[in-house]
Amino acid sequence: MEISANDPRLKSWVDVPQGSDFPIQNLPFGVFRTESQLPRVGVAIGDKILDLKALHILGYLENLPFRLEDFLADSLNPMMKHGKKASRDLRNRISKLLRSDMPDLRDREHHVKQVLVSQSEVQMLLPIRVGDYTDFYSSEDHARNVGTMFRDPAKALLPNWKHLPVGYHGRASSIVVSGTPINRPMGQVNPSDDTPPTFKASGQLDFELEVAFVTFDGKPMGQRISTGEADDYIFGLMLFNDWSARDIQRWEYVPLGPFLAKNFGSTVSPWVVTLDALEPFRVPGPVQDPEVLPYLKYEGNKNIDIHLEVGIIPSNGQETIVSRSNYKHMYWNMTQQLAHHTVGGCNIKCGDMMASGTISGPTEGSFGSMLEIAWKGTKPVAMTDGSTRNFILDGDNVVIRGYAEKEGVRVGFGKCEGVVLPAIEF
Ligand code: CA
Repeated sequence: MEISANDPRLKSWVDVPQGSDFPIQNLPFGVFRTESQLPRVGVAIGDKILDLKALHILGYLENLPFRLEDFLADSLNPMMKHGKKASRDLRNRISKLLRSDMPDLRDREHHVKQVLVSQSEVQMLLPIRVGDYTDFYSSEDHARNVGTMFRDPAKALLPNWKHLPVGYHGRASSIVVSGTPINRPMGQVNPSDDTPPTFKASGQLDFELEVAFVTFDGKPMGQRISTGEADDYIFGLMLFNDWSARDIQRWEYVPLGPFLAKNFGSTVSPWVVTLDALEPFRVPGPVQDPEVLPYLKYEGNKNIDIHLEVGIIPSNGQETIVSRSNYKHMYWNMTQQLAHHTVGGCNIKCGDMMASGTISGPTEGSFGSMLEIAWKGTKPVAMTDGSTRNFILDGDNVVIRGYAEKEGVRVGFGKCEGVVLPAIEF
């Protein structure tokens, strides 16, 4: 499968600063608005955004199936309704228009003025109208760390873990775009089962470093999507912080899993990096032993080499990087997650969001949550400003960054960040 927009030799006539997450080989989609204009769909290029609504009006998107309403929209869902092939054709067309050797748009200065906006002048909106949100638990190192801390190190993984991608259905309504503050949740906590619970602000607020993918419309209910078909139903990926209140989680999660510990907020990055743009960064996944059931077998390289890092910026502004991990560490890949999700007949829809689960690497320094980094509070993390952290404090800004890089091409995600505000204790 040749995707012309991925050619590493391409250069754009739009200036792309050194180290930018958004060269012409990326072209991620997002939704933005300016003070005077309605929300619309755009594509990031360098420090600019290409306004697809304006581009459509000026006739540059002819012979593609898209209508004006697909771009004059407050989410990417109408555009995504056209499916994988149309999305790929659209990205290839945009790539062609932005290539340094293509004069069609480049040399029409009056058009360029209408279609390019500075990222610094706009507000980025939540790009997806999220239908259903599913959270997996697919990093072996994370599952092993948690199992070691809370159960038996010798039996850290539960018996099902290597046979199916464990997941649960989460809450879609509280998924917010990067930059949205998160209030520390109130809730029931009970450190000891011998005492009654108390109601208080969570004292163990944590982040979870994750990557989420969003889907096109799937098959009708009752039918399944195979691992071989799964990529055709995935539009793109985003950075994802699945905020978690560990003390609330501890008391509430048996027997049905996390509830209020996870539903008070999740943060996503504003740009959806297409799966197409990430194809050049595919790598093999880990060997799966024991052998998985036939419906979970897959062919080809299905993991993706995406460098991930988490920084904490206290209110004094001094950032400390607390984790460097990588999406390639996933034990279960996206095609297996989607195949498992639908194997019983569950239908997926345009705009569903599926998160990876906390992505921890094999070594200290690569863990994807404060729970693991500070090892249940036993190894407080030293911050640049001299303070320490076991969990996230009020005023802390948690920033996730991610990028793939190869042959001098860097395909990045921008930032996924959120400041924690004090609990509302009424
Ligand atoms: Ca999670």
